[in-house]
Amino acid sequence: MTDPGAESLTLVWFTEDLRCSDNPALHAAAERGRVLAVYVDDPARHGDWPPGPASRAWLHHSLHALTGELAALGIELAVRRGDSATELSRLAEQTRADRLHCAQPLEPAARRALAAIEGALDERGIRLQTFGHRLLHDPDTLRNRAGGHWRVFTPMWKSLRSTLEASPPRPLPLPAPQADPVDPAPSREAIDALALRPASGWDRGFDAAGQAGSANAQLALEGFVERTLSGYGNGRDFPARGRVSGLSPHLHFGEVSPAQVWHAVMQAQHSGEGSGDDAWKFLSELAWREFAHHVLWHRPECPTTPLNPRFEQFAWREPEHEPAAAADLLAWQRGRTGVALVDAGMRELWATGRMHNRVRMVAASFLCKNLRLHWLHGARWFWHTLVDADLANNTMGWQWCAGCGADAAPFFRIFNPDTQAERFDPDGRYRARWRAADPVSEAIVDLKRSRQQALEAYRNLPSA
Ligand code: FAD
Repeated sequence: MTDPGAESLTLVWFTEDLRCSDNPALHAAAERGRVLAVYVDDPARHGDWPPGPASRAWLHHSLHALTGELAALGIELAVRRGDSATELSRLAEQTRADRLHCAQPLEPAARRALAAIEGALDERGIRLQTFGHRLLHDPDTLRNRAGGHWRVFTPMWKSLRSTLEASPPRPLPLPAPQADPVDPAPSREAIDALALRPASGWDRGFDAAGQAGSANAQLALEGFVERTLSGYGNGRDFPARGRVSGLSPHLHFGEVSPAQVWHAVMQAQHSGEGSGDDAWKFLSELAWREFAHHVLWHRPECPTTPLNPRFEQFAWREPEHEPAAAADLLAWQRGRTGVALVDAGMRELWATGRMHNRVRMVAASFLCKNLRLHWLHGARWFWHTLVDADLANNTMGWQWCAGCGADAAPFFRIFNPDTQAERFDPDGRYRARWRAADPVSEAIVDLKRSRQQALEAYRNLPSA
């Protein structure tokens, strides 16, 4: 443990910013003097959305990687479990730290928890300073013309793009080492003691699609910019082609910052790698992440409440009361609906902790529209199984697909999963890759009839 000497000590509390470069909380702390890093495993800080098992498996590796990075800078990582306010104030007292730095939390429960933490630290005379580096924009200051928050993506993106072009983000380098490298072994043992990985070994296949940690995030970013960015616009919708960045879990855990991503893509564009159209298409996808967080910030109820209140009255089938609906939900979760693209996606998800965006949209639409099951059933299953589970993006993705979200797809535009498969998996490679050994031969639902039933339920909604 760091010696509680006379020189001021700053605690840097790592949350969803598990990296050392471009980390203003760490940077500012290192400039002040001595630093002790801390991670607190506190599922309650996330309220009703504690990280699911796939996400925790990723976190395990990410924390190990962070320990190594910090140790090379001469900084220890203290690992604690329990209530964040209690653990942080106790550690601050033990080490006589006079400040705590952390990233500005974005999720509603974590924002509420921060207020309690600030109070507990304040009582002990310890100052809390937050840094807003998880997004490219400040959700409180980016406003529409009427001075409100943005509800539609395209004008928000236009406004954000012009702001960032005028004043491009400049990622911070690694802070200077504090001292000689420290021994990471005690932190590694403490991380293992958190038992973040599932005991069943379910996560064995998760590494196939990319590994945790900021060094791997940088490799993924560099590889994407060099090899995949060119052609992203046309290729991104085809799940078998691998023409996406795979950055989502790295971005969720803050192993790479959105500023670093923006900067790398702009640099590639300036040096003539890839077409400008591909770069802007990719940055606009990154901006959907900004939009999702913007909406969550201003509408904190949206993880469970439809943004379009009409949908409160929608005639969802209820698996809690209807055995047939419960069986359909289970078939969807297990990839046993008999609809090839949906089943392939659900099997990819279970095996790797990921699913391609196009297939997420098709699987979500099938659940909400053909099976007429509430989008929250899908959002909760994704939360359980995705390594990139992210409250803002997941909520927006589900509300968008269900037709009830901010700037959502209209409900009556119902994907036909077979047509989607012909269009985006024309040679069947993706479906073949994730096909079950004993696939279900007949679909659990008639696509045409279920579509009509969904449209009828939609027509029966009270008008806006
Ligand atoms: P790329 O195409 O390379 O995009 C780069 C980055 O931009 C992504 O890493 C992501 O941070 C952001 N991005 C891209 N598309 C979207 C989008 N539609 N919405 C928000 N951000 C986007 N994304 C998550 O990160 N976590 C989730 O829990 C999540 N749940 C989803 C649920 C549903 C029903 C749907 C339809 C989408 C969901 N998404 C979620 C969005 C999207 O599917 C993933 O971000 C994307 O598949 C990640 O792959 P990638 O990093 O290769 O994406």
